[in-house]
Amino acid sequence: MSKKKKIVIVGGGINGLIAANYLSKDGFSVSIIEKKSNTGGACTFKTKEIGNQTIDFALGATVLGMMQDFIFQETGLSNTLETFAPKHPKLVYFQDSNSSTRIYQNYKKLDQEIKNKWGERGDLESFRNDEDKVIGFIRKGFKFGETPSLEKANTILGETLTNLWINGSAKNLLDHYFTSDKTKIYMGMTRIESGSSSMYNKGTAFTIPLMDSGSVFDGYWGYVKGGIWKITEELSKINQRLGIKFYMSSNINSVDSKRMKVSFEKEKKDYEIDYDYLIFATDPTTPSKLLNNFKLEQELEHKDYLGTSGKITAFFKNPVKWKEYSPYNNSDSAFRFVFSNETLNEFETSSQKVVNSSDNYAPSYIQIYAEGAAQRVLNNHEPFDKLIFFIKNIKYGKTADQLPFIKEKVMNLIFKYIKNPEDCVSTEFLCPKDLNEIFYFPKGNIDHMALNENQNYNQRHFSKNADKGFYLYGEYDNIYYCGAGAYPCGSVAGTAGYMCAKQLKRTVI
Ligand SMILES: Cc1cc2nc3c(=O)[nH]c(=O)nc-3n(C[C@H](O)[C@H](O)[C@H](O)COP(=O)(O)OP(=O)(O)OC[C@H]3O[C@@H](n4cnc5c(N)ncnc54)[C@H](O)[C@@H]3O)c2cc1C
Repeated sequence: MSKKKKIVIVGGGINGLIAANYLSKDGFSVSIIEKKSNTGGACTFKTKEIGNQTIDFALGATVLGMMQDFIFQETGLSNTLETFAPKHPKLVYFQDSNSSTRIYQNYKKLDQEIKNKWGERGDLESFRNDEDKVIGFIRKGFKFGETPSLEKANTILGETLTNLWINGSAKNLLDHYFTSDKTKIYMGMTRIESGSSSMYNKGTAFTIPLMDSGSVFDGYWGYVKGGIWKITEELSKINQRLGIKFYMSSNINSVDSKRMKVSFEKEKKDYEIDYDYLIFATDPTTPSKLLNNFKLEQELEHKDYLGTSGKITAFFKNPVKWKEYSPYNNSDSAFRFVFSNETLNEFETSSQKVVNSSDNYAPSYIQIYAEGAAQRVLNNHEPFDKLIFFIKNIKYGKTADQLPFIKEKVMNLIFKYIKNPEDCVSTEFLCPKDLNEIFYFPKGNIDHMALNENQNYNQRHFSKNADKGFYLYGEYDNIYYCGAGAYPCGSVAGTAGYMCAKQLKRTVI
């Protein structure tokens, strides 16, 4: 039997862990080098002390949704992890009304609701049908580890859908199906999920079906019992059982691409390990620095890495009580969205303000994840209730402790909808600059890199030879990149890691 090929993966976040899992099962000898003392990357937790009690909370990612179900099953994660996705309609609040608009999963009910509440006169049914076709196409590409291509999209979806949904602008897509600004804001909010991509920017339409393309909850979002970090924690254990070697708390000194060796320091000792294939599952700029490839490093500086999202975790000493009555079971676990903009133009302007002006905060939307209520449904009873606020738009540059006014504004707005705000006993706040410092995201973007023109779908790669290998990095032919900056995007999904592993294996056979 021939000797096992050696793979070294730099970065033990979700993408590095998923790539390692598949490649190890495919017969490679896999090692992971991780800078921190824990795996998980941005899918990790912190323990908070409040009074004389402690509680774990998600430091980065909170909700699960973009993962492909086959990955959840094939890795073995589904054997041990319990999950829950609320079936309750999502509740959307605009500032001109105290009552919510309900986003029903049933499109006929939703159609009626947005007609009544937002005066919508467009064609929701066609939007959903067309989106389903695009999502079906995206998922198939994931499963087969297929390089995203416009040619393939044109063949399978036809030119009209491809132009609308894949290489067009979000503005054009939303105008095609809808008439009311509020529908367009709600349906198109994921365009700025991580950065400041303008709705006029070509390539931004694709982010809309992409964010619904997870299949673990069939396009919806939900929770993992204990917390989302159980995914990376469990995966690390599974990988250890597969024999994958972990070098934790390791500082890479250099990568010699000619001799195919990585040198690093761990606990004051120097190591050198060799590889047949090297995979970077970090942010996209780190490899160019470690490879001492100055030219590539300079080229990568021109990409858009800007992140404009923040996060507050609020801890309550009693379960949060919402003011608005809801007849549904477990309604306190429903997703809620609070918008500060009423028109599409305002929505666009606020997304650009934190790039083009000195404003540190341009209120746009707050996504509310009822983590504590969801944990109670999962039978995980914790000493505090937790609400998570995912916030837009925050300027990159200052840390959360330099911008306390943002937290105050967000909390005041949210407290309008809650009966017991006095039960909020503590908060944790992060701005894009914190995400840069904690997780090494170049400019704090949770997708490592913005999702817009030249950085989405078929252009979301770092290969100088994409036809030969979409996940190859630069001009190298045995060095790959599969972090969140690669196709499809970030998120606790590991799709880029899976696709990269699939493509690498194909080149070896
Ligand atoms: C505040 C916040 C909220 C989010 N919310 C959600 C959410 O609710 N749901 C969701 O699905 N996603 C969410 N995300 C996005 C998601 O967490 C990330 O996109 C995803 O975790 C990225 O995974 P990754 O493996 O590509 O990269 P990372 O998680 O960034 O992992 C990269 C790893 O590489 C390591 N590394 C970096 N440099 C080196 C080096 N030189 N040597 C060795 N190791 C190195 C890092 O320490 C890290 O462990 C959120 C992110 C943040 C920050």
